[in-house]
Amino acid sequence: MKSNNKKDKVNSVKNYIYMLKFISKHTPFMVFGYLFFDVLANLPWTLSNVVLLKYIIDVASEGKGFERIAFALIFFAIFVVVTNLFTTLFYEISMPKQKEKLYFAIYKTIYEKAAKMDYEAYDNPEYYNDLVLAMNSMNERAYAVLSNTQDILSNTVSVLTIGAVIISIDPICLVFVAVCVAIMTPIGRLIAKVNVERTEVMTPLDRKNLYFSRVFYLQDYAKELRLSGAGKMIETRYNRNITDRIKTISPYLTKQWKLYFCQEALPMTLLIYLGISLLMGYKAIVTKDVTMGDFAATFNGAASISTSVFAITSNFAISFRENSLYVEKFRRFMNAKEKMISGSKTTVFENPPTIKFENVSFKYPGTDKYVLKNISFEISPYKKVALVGYNGAGKTTLTNLLLRLYDVTEGAITIDGVNIKDWNIASYHKNFAAVFQDFSIFGATLGENVSMNDSHDKEKALEALKSAHFDRKLPEGTDSILLREFDDNGMSLSGGEAQKIAIARAFYKNCAFAILDEPSANLDPVAEHTLNQSMVKAANQKTVLFISHRLSTTVMADEIYMLENGEIIEHGSHEELMKNNGKYAYMFRLQAEKYTE
Ligand code: ADP
Repeated sequence: MKSNNKKDKVNSVKNYIYMLKFISKHTPFMVFGYLFFDVLANLPWTLSNVVLLKYIIDVASEGKGFERIAFALIFFAIFVVVTNLFTTLFYEISMPKQKEKLYFAIYKTIYEKAAKMDYEAYDNPEYYNDLVLAMNSMNERAYAVLSNTQDILSNTVSVLTIGAVIISIDPICLVFVAVCVAIMTPIGRLIAKVNVERTEVMTPLDRKNLYFSRVFYLQDYAKELRLSGAGKMIETRYNRNITDRIKTISPYLTKQWKLYFCQEALPMTLLIYLGISLLMGYKAIVTKDVTMGDFAATFNGAASISTSVFAITSNFAISFRENSLYVEKFRRFMNAKEKMISGSKTTVFENPPTIKFENVSFKYPGTDKYVLKNISFEISPYKKVALVGYNGAGKTTLTNLLLRLYDVTEGAITIDGVNIKDWNIASYHKNFAAVFQDFSIFGATLGENVSMNDSHDKEKALEALKSAHFDRKLPEGTDSILLREFDDNGMSLSGGEAQKIAIARAFYKNCAFAILDEPSANLDPVAEHTLNQSMVKAANQKTVLFISHRLSTTVMADEIYMLENGEIIEHGSHEELMKNNGKYAYMFRLQAEKYTE
């Protein structure tokens, strides 16, 4: 248990050093300024409490005249003004800018790491939790680590300077301080421990609270909250959670109150306020071993040292452990290793070559079930190929493998005869335009949303939008801003319009292959039909692999593959499959009947 405790502490220190190094790397002036200016800002008050006070009282008691006191006060005032000038400049002007830089560096680092990680990492709850935690709280925690370090540094400086003054007056006072510290420190540790236990028991309840706030502020829930009784249902649960929180936290609050009282009130009152003042008062007034100034300085100094020690042992210990736990998760996220190995091939094809699936089988990481079994087929250049089948048949998984979001478990996928694992992953992705069911529209201009870049070729973007049948006229053309995050007048889009923009991306991108996962799910059957026709025309320079539930779309495909339970059960052109009169034909007739009705 003890060695575990020690290990925890060593780890916590390592986490602090890691974070401080991170901050120094991105904003070196912030670390230096924050630590240096805080010490500078505190120094006058540390000195005035002890040294200046002693000087004034001694000079006054010796009756040496007011000039000396006035001179000392003026000198001190100038010192305060000068240090204030520098510290306020730093805190008010430099610090906010440094903070912005630090926050940007943190998000950029997290984003770059997340973008580099294997897509399959999102299936790992530990990785995903770490990512969410890093995104939500690392900026605050980084700052907390810095301010915590600053606290310990300035309190240590104050203990050392005042300690030196007290020793020069009467070392016995330090014995009182030492006993006081000896009592306060272990109690401080206990307080920190109770706090950690309290955080741990509250974490699941915090998670519930986060869920409630998400439900009440995200637009995704707004419609149902208005139209159904869900709001009341969630409110009842929220209330229950608050009652649980108060019940859970209460015993910890009582424990902490007792400990704080024992730590702060008793040793400080008995040893410092009473002990030192009686002793030094006796020496100053009765035995005259020390001056009245010494009496005042030791009394103030001892109280100030004890307060600093209190700050270090309890306040610091509490946040030290807590901050360190967050940094630990951030480190774990940053150190997560990619499993997918990037090859060296960087070919970006001008014209689409042949794609081959050779005995491909696949199970998702951490699962036992094969969701694709021994798949072999070939897609010739420029062909329009459809994947059909019931939900869960394995269609999306197959496209995920071709896009190298996951690696095959067995078998191989080759392009132009080369295993796709031999490609550098980023270069490989340049060969594909992909439109997913869960596409995203970004807070940027219409043109940027088509080019997926911070610049766009207007003519080309308009052409791509036309091919995708996006016919809404926006006031600023392709420069119109979408969504309201960056512009109050940003355009809102219907589901169908958003989907057409996503499809336009595939037309805009110059690449050999297009993968469309249910590209027309948000469109009505007529819009879907016309879009499909123009899609084939616009993508005549590409090989197209598309997934569709609506079989009317598949009529125009050169080849159709029907999947069931991870296997190809039928394939051929629409006419051939209808002639076969198998499962495809059955499904097609079923859907066609609905439209006829
Ligand atoms: P389809 O696109 O044909 O509807 P999918 O390829 O999405 O089918 O899914 C095939 C099977 O793989 C389903 O049983 C699904 O539950 C499973 N599956 C899909 N994604 C994951 C995942 N990330 N982890 C584990 N299993 C998954």
